[in-house]
Amino acid sequence: MKKVTLHDKIFALSIPDTEIQQAVEKVAAQINKDMAGETPVFVGLLNGAFMFAADLLKLIEAPCEVSFIKYFSYAGTQSLGEVSELIGLNTNLKNRTVIILEDIIDTGLTISRLLNDLQSKGLKQVKIATLLFKPDAFKENYAVDYIGISIPNDFIVGYGLDYDELGRNLKDIYTLVQ
Ligand code: 5GP
Ligand code: MG
Repeated sequence: MKKVTLHDKIFALSIPDTEIQQAVEKVAAQINKDMAGETPVFVGLLNGAFMFAADLLKLIEAPCEVSFIKYFSYAGTQSLGEVSELIGLNTNLKNRTVIILEDIIDTGLTISRLLNDLQSKGLKQVKIATLLFKPDAFKENYAVDYIGISIPNDFIVGYGLDYDELGRNLKDIYTLVQ
């Protein structure tokens, strides 16, 4: 089994590149079917979703716009703990179909916050596409419209996903072993 070491941890190959690409193709086919006649705005979440977004968008047939956003986290000066601020969402989304692109949905909190931030923008509709989904960790009640691969509750890296910023460049996905 192929392994990589990132910082102090060892990860073993779990989802090879070929399987990832099949999942991306499956998601693209579903989006192409649903988006016929639409001009969606794809909104990718940085940093993790950059690779999924790049591979997926090459397969999208509808005319579309592409944008990226980031939640900037910082330690609060008060007892609120971690605060997140949305940066980069400048596109006028009024009456637009938005497709959120995420690398992985775990508890679902990040997307829940984004959906909340989008609520005042007057969208026509919003869809969620994620390459990876952890059903056993998901705690929210919104629908995840497009899912590439459902995975167990393990910590993974590669294909955009990092461990302390390392591992995003790996073309396969690896699972933490020790
Ligand atoms: P959620 O808000 O859904 O709990 O988590 C979403 C975010 O947590 C993802 O965008 C990702 O940044 C991070 N995350 C969740 N699970 C994993 C994982 O297994 N590996 C890595 N590298 N990041 C993860
Ligand atoms: Mg992410």
